[in-house]
Amino acid sequence: MIHTCGHKIPDSDSIVAAIAMAYLQNKLGNEAKAVRQGDINPESQYILDKFNLQAPELMTSFSGKDMYLVDFNNYTEAPEDLKDANIIGIVDHHKLGGLVTAGPLDCWIRAVGCTNTIVKEMFDYYEVEIPADIAGAMMCAILSDTVIFKSPTCTKVDTKITKELAAIANIEDFKAIGMEMFKVKSQVEGVPTRELVLRDFKNFEMHGTKVGIGQLEVVDLSIFDDIKDDLIADIEALREETSCDTVLLLLTDIIAMGSQILVATKSLNEIENAWDIKVQNDQFWLKGCLSRKKQVVPFLEPQFKK
Ligand code: MG
Ligand code: MG
Ligand code: MG
Repeated sequence: MIHTCGHKIPDSDSIVAAIAMAYLQNKLGNEAKAVRQGDINPESQYILDKFNLQAPELMTSFSGKDMYLVDFNNYTEAPEDLKDANIIGIVDHHKLGGLVTAGPLDCWIRAVGCTNTIVKEMFDYYEVEIPADIAGAMMCAILSDTVIFKSPTCTKVDTKITKELAAIANIEDFKAIGMEMFKVKSQVEGVPTRELVLRDFKNFEMHGTKVGIGQLEVVDLSIFDDIKDDLIADIEALREETSCDTVLLLLTDIIAMGSQILVATKSLNEIENAWDIKVQNDQFWLKGCLSRKKQVVPFLEPQFKK
């Protein structure tokens, strides 16, 4: 049995790619099951409900199991016992993260905006038809990861494949669904602060320095006006609890196209040097910043080189 599984703190790309990949593997005659390492976020729940799909099963231990990794390829986002699992394949769109495997494997890694873009290419390669419900969910995952094509991570391949998936799913106005999705994402009222901080959170090891970066993508930053102080206090608490050097929270405005970045750090100079900015009241505005992967991590990481 192949377990198709996305990263810790799964996002919509991880959830949907696990589902699509399990479907594809079963069609290819390889028994497979979609699983997830954590809770379903509100956006992913919206997608599952919209296309009547079942959530992947929660599973956190994989010792001795066959795994197909989707949307990640590093140990920090992997199950604790990944080293005891058998990785038979990876489909991903991130930088290489240092995995070691016991045997040869299938690798589908491309510099595109979303794992589901590559999964669609796999369906085409193997000449397997995608059911309409799965196609619709894959389309949503691409719209999410590429911020409705606005992110610098978005490529021509992503836009082309989104349109193909929309056609399979019989959806005309896919951008409207994208906006609906981001409105679901923008609901923060009444949600505990820590839950917001960790909703889309990744840990990084930058030349031996522990850095955590969360991101909330919304349609209007004013929703944070009343809770911004709480968020700042919480990332400072989280930084201490997890012995991180730095915890950042990106409040990304997908309409204004930029991020208000909240900062908890022991390395203020490094943060300010990374973007040549000044941090004031534990925050700064980064114009044009939509992508943690392309516009945050590559600027911060070199600052910690010893
Ligand atoms: Mg992801
Ligand atoms: Mg992704
Ligand atoms: Mg994302």
